[in-house]
Amino acid sequence: MAKRFLFGFYDHGCHQDPGWALRNYIAFLSLRLKIEKIQFLCYREKRSELDLEKSLVGEASFPPPHGWDDSDYVPEAIGWEGEKPGDGRKEKKLKEINLESMSPERRDEEQQLMHLKLMGWRHFPVDLEKLSGIRCLLLGAGTLGCEVSRLLMTWGVRKLTVVDGGHVSMPDVLKQSLYVDDDCGVPRATAIVPHLKERCPAVDVEAIQMEIPAPGNPVSPSVLDDCERLQTLVASSDVVFLLTDTWESRWFPTLLCANENKMAITAALGHDSYLVMRHGAGPGTRRGNMDDVIAQIQNLSTEDALGRQRLGCCFCNDTTSLFNSVSDETVALPGLTSIVSGKAVELFARMLHHPEGIHAPGDMAGMDTEHQLGLLPHQMRGSLPRCDLSTVISNSSNNCTACSNIVLSEYRREGLNFVMQAINQPTYLKDLTGISNLIKSDTCLKLPASFPVNSGKLSSARCLLLGAGTLGCDVARILMDYGVRNLTIVDSGCVVVSNLARQSLYTTKDRKTPKATAILEHLKERCSSVEVEGIQMEIPMPGHPVSSKEAAGVLKACERLQELVAAHDAVFLLTDTRESRWLPTLLCANENKIAITAALGYDSYLAMRHGAGPGINSEGSDMVAAMNKLSAEDVLGRQRLGCYFCNDVIAPVDSVSNRTLDQQCTVTRPGLASIASGHAADLFTRLLNHPDGIHAPGDIAGTSSERPSGLLPHQMRGSLSQYSLLTLMGYSSSSCIACSNAVLREYRSRGLDFVMQVINEPTYLEDLTGLTELMKSADYSRVEWVDEVDDEDFADM
Ligand SMILES: [Zn+2]
Ligand SMILES: [Zn+2]
Repeated sequence: MAKRFLFGFYDHGCHQDPGWALRNYIAFLSLRLKIEKIQFLCYREKRSELDLEKSLVGEASFPPPHGWDDSDYVPEAIGWEGEKPGDGRKEKKLKEINLESMSPERRDEEQQLMHLKLMGWRHFPVDLEKLSGIRCLLLGAGTLGCEVSRLLMTWGVRKLTVVDGGHVSMPDVLKQSLYVDDDCGVPRATAIVPHLKERCPAVDVEAIQMEIPAPGNPVSPSVLDDCERLQTLVASSDVVFLLTDTWESRWFPTLLCANENKMAITAALGHDSYLVMRHGAGPGTRRGNMDDVIAQIQNLSTEDALGRQRLGCCFCNDTTSLFNSVSDETVALPGLTSIVSGKAVELFARMLHHPEGIHAPGDMAGMDTEHQLGLLPHQMRGSLPRCDLSTVISNSSNNCTACSNIVLSEYRREGLNFVMQAINQPTYLKDLTGISNLIKSDTCLKLPASFPVNSGKLSSARCLLLGAGTLGCDVARILMDYGVRNLTIVDSGCVVVSNLARQSLYTTKDRKTPKATAILEHLKERCSSVEVEGIQMEIPMPGHPVSSKEAAGVLKACERLQELVAAHDAVFLLTDTRESRWLPTLLCANENKIAITAALGYDSYLAMRHGAGPGINSEGSDMVAAMNKLSAEDVLGRQRLGCYFCNDVIAPVDSVSNRTLDQQCTVTRPGLASIASGHAADLFTRLLNHPDGIHAPGDIAGTSSERPSGLLPHQMRGSLSQYSLLTLMGYSSSSCIACSNAVLREYRSRGLDFVMQVINEPTYLEDLTGLTELMKSADYSRVEWVDEVDDEDFADM
């Protein structure tokens, strides 16, 4: 028997819908009193008096859910049925909510995608649905395959198919970011799956152990099956990543992508240079009805379906022989992989968000673009020793061995017979396309291996990494790959779910573990000979005043940092706030230690080395003399290069408090951290191999260098949306808040008292260095960089 019941409550809400608390009251009353319909009154006040206009009267019903007879029954969650906010209905129907969307897995996934949503709120809308639905085929699960698959997950891609024919071997473990010691001997296709899953449980990943059939390679019995398999795989994917380490294994997939008009991204490493490109669309006419094949073949055109000249594939400008490159093993500089992978996924994401997708024309660096993600180039080529990055466009070639009409028409007519012939007869493709006589063009992929990696200097260098987040993980890993064996890592945070997609070393089992602890195991399982120590500690920061209770702890942290900087040869500043870099920068300048900064903006990054400390070091016995002789020059009598803060005119302030979530969180494009880390680690090894070390002057791109390791710039600033990479050089500033003589003198005479005062008094540093005066003076907006070459010169180099 249904009773009627009127329930009134004080409603704090002011909208035309009842306050949220009503749902809980209704559910409670219905269950307790076993009534389905309840009249309600939302009593609302305005200035302590009844507000008749805002108060609400209505009826709500709660149909008996399962388990309703049980006196202990409590629904998991409830909500209004068919409710849209603001529709102001007076008839409310309460409904038990399926908590599927609140399951831990679902919540984790939401957190992992948070950075993409933040990107969307602040910059441009990321099409999460498109990204999560797109089917990516990765050919190769080695050095590039590991990085690219991980970064694709960071971009929100959830459907991956990975093809690889090899096994994980010992030297791979350092280079191939996902594998650990235990994977040695296991097929890469088997090993990679759990490593991807433990970073992103929501990913749907299939791995296939298979060699990619390649022209000129000895024929294995399964080659025909493999060809058929690859045909099916390409046909069922939306985008194909060519990440194998030989050119010839890219031939068949390239042909298939051109034939099927699939997006294809090539990433290739030379010794110290790289190529990242997207292949052009397939020819204008697509394969339709099989009866029509002959007609289709006639209609193959050099234009794509939009009538544009097709962009080239990775074979279009490679007229060299495809054959026998297996023997020349590619040993790329360690930092190169992360740089290339970051750029490859960025190119993919941009193509996906471009309104014309695969048909988008190639942009050149320096162009204007209205596209929110920035330029969409066709090819990017870069070289580490030359510190350059160039964008290149090339149209499809009529002689191309993979995408030309002559090859595609042969393939469409003969199918796999044609492919088998190309595989078995080394000269067949050449004869067909007539490229035998063409002169080998200059590709960026063959350069001498002259850079000393794994030198004694690197293995004995003691490196202190401040920050074990996105940059910290990548830099630590890349440094080990360069041969560094002595690492100390400082971080105060714990691993949370949203880190997993971006911070390359952590897995789901590290949740809630301090990063300083979790990272140790992950580095060890990649390189058992590394000496690594983790320290959980907050780096004291200016502008974060401490209470008298906290003061002792902060002082202790300052002392600890002093000891740590003194005990290491190089310090990497990899934290995500500006102010946390201040004290380490000061300590490095004071101790004349190598300091490398990597910092990320939303779509730009900075990798720089700080200049040497002032001429006289505090190690001298006479402190007073040392303080008086502080100089703008270093011990070699060269003008000191600047530090991270030298181009700032504002002292670091608290950049964390008083910010909304999306401002607090460092939102950067996925892939950016990899690129910045690669450059930072590479800069360090270059510095270490330079005869002048920390005193080396800053090189500018475009100049020549006789050193085998190439140019050693002071700063590199890159932009993803503009595809630029600038080398900059700036001298130390006499009003720098971290390395100027005024600051160092104060620090040398007062030590940590001085530091504590800086921490507690936000404007003290500015007053000390005269920055306050500087700010007051007329139109002083920023310090100019000594940049000897025009920006444009870098853009299309
Ligand atoms: Zn081609
Ligand atoms: Zn400075």
